[in-house]
Amino acid sequence: MAQEQTSQSVAPARLVIHNIGLLLSGDIGRPILDADTVVAVNGKITAVGKAKDLDTASATIRIDAMGTTLAPGLIDSHVHPVAGDWTPRQNQIGWIDSYLHGGVTTMISAGEVHTPGRPKDVVGLKAMAIFAQRAFSAFRPGGVRIYAGAPVIEHGMVEEDFKDLAAAGVTMLGEVGLGSVKDGATARQMVAWARKYGIQSTIHTGGPSIPGSSLIDQDIVLATDADVIGHINGGHTALPDDQIVALCEKSPRALEIVHNGNEKAALLTLRTARELKHLDRVILGTDSPAGSGVQPLGILRMISMLSSLAGVSAEVAVCFATGNTARIRNLDCGLIEPGRVATFVMIDKAQHSPGKTVLESMQRGDLPGIGMVIIDGTISAQRSRNTPPATRVPEVVKQ
Ligand SMILES: [Zn+2]
Repeated sequence: MAQEQTSQSVAPARLVIHNIGLLLSGDIGRPILDADTVVAVNGKITAVGKAKDLDTASATIRIDAMGTTLAPGLIDSHVHPVAGDWTPRQNQIGWIDSYLHGGVTTMISAGEVHTPGRPKDVVGLKAMAIFAQRAFSAFRPGGVRIYAGAPVIEHGMVEEDFKDLAAAGVTMLGEVGLGSVKDGATARQMVAWARKYGIQSTIHTGGPSIPGSSLIDQDIVLATDADVIGHINGGHTALPDDQIVALCEKSPRALEIVHNGNEKAALLTLRTARELKHLDRVILGTDSPAGSGVQPLGILRMISMLSSLAGVSAEVAVCFATGNTARIRNLDCGLIEPGRVATFVMIDKAQHSPGKTVLESMQRGDLPGIGMVIIDGTISAQRSRNTPPATRVPEVVKQ
């Protein structure tokens, strides 16, 4: 089901969600809000607070949260889409819709590198990036918003190419290092050109992912100075511990931890970021589809893994996949506050998890159950077909 903008509707679409048991803001400075009600008009949040203090009348969609937890929709900071909801990596169809049932409402392409016959000449790679940006802007599998069109830099590109790409609507580079540019000096120059024209960058970090790709070590990452240290825990093979620690300490850039990486290195990264008081730099991705497949619950699994093993609370771990990513990626989602898009995931403790609350269950390493996903003020999924069943699920009172 593709999402359509509602700007042409006559009466405003007014969503009211009440009886929220716990409201996770996505903001790492204040991860839990003292609120039980969210109001959104035409897909944008207009009010957050206590029901008794808000105007909750004249809803066109009214949802009783039934005491469940509302959080911003999850953002997967690192995916490799190709075309629509098909991936050739494991030859699967419908993979993005499956992630919707894992609470993911926004995806960011780290390069459409699995495209069969991917062009590597400059004109071809620019054309492919512009095509992907256009195609995924116009098509949202399950309603999931996909930011795509992320060219992989190759030798021969000049400043004018980055200017052209930006003018054509391209806003980010694919993983630096997956193309022919693997030396720090060239990569740094191209990343600087990209930045000059408002294009964000990510670098592959660690050993080669598949035959044909190569090692990108600490020195190349630091020299390149991309905006995001992509999969700092490897994708799949991680750098040695001392290099991971050095990247956390010496670079001010975002620290991206991925599901397809080394889990021990993920924990090292998180502990180092915590010691440095740099948890606001941590963002999460799956780096999927990949050799290890498609992981619809990958972001939820990382939140539970990090909060159970790395000594951060579950509400903070949720921020790694919501507000942190939105801030670093300049997105209009990821936080529960007026003006943001009304894009939410509603969760509860999974049935029979021994934790007393949903947060405690996640801190024990269990996944939460998803009861509803809302994108731009519209219900995109109800009880998830992929998570363990939530104990309680929201009810649609009026629609
Ligand atoms: Zn990579």
